[in-house]
Amino acid sequence: MLLLAMVTACTPAPPQPATMQVKTTGDGSIPKNETISLDDDQHAAIANLDPELLAAMRKAAADAKLKSVEFRVTSGWRSAEYQQRLLDEAVELYRSEEEARRWVHPPEKSAHVTGKAIDVGPTNADDWLIQHGSDYGLCQAYANEMWHFELLTTPGGQCPQPQSNAG
Ligand SMILES: [Zn+2]
Repeated sequence: MLLLAMVTACTPAPPQPATMQVKTTGDGSIPKNETISLDDDQHAAIANLDPELLAAMRKAAADAKLKSVEFRVTSGWRSAEYQQRLLDEAVELYRSEEEARRWVHPPEKSAHVTGKAIDVGPTNADDWLIQHGSDYGLCQAYANEMWHFELLTTPGGQCPQPQSNAG
């Protein structure tokens, strides 16, 4: 009986579900007109990014810096609630659900919610990434968002044609 209790007490915790592990508190929101650094590990927007995407971005940022191009992050990982809030705000702004969805995906479709997308600025950083991103597997995903990048190819591979609608 005692033995059984000990065995039970030593049973390892059940494996975590395959869903994303949120590593910090916060919904990943970054106030408008503010940016954060790729090194800002304490921020949920960075901490919850797909580690492969973050590593590729940091590599690219280090190389861009040699050309005096600095990357700033305007959006990274977002909680589903935050993504929904952004969509609600867009619907309000455009006064059209259809128009809003050209710019903001619902949570179940957004690569930001899974940590697999990052928005980068300023414009010279976007230009640099559009030109050199494929060396790191990074691609512009949407034609109307020059700031939104995802890992869509292997390093040195070819990026797919950007899709016409938004992330
Ligand atoms: Zn984006």
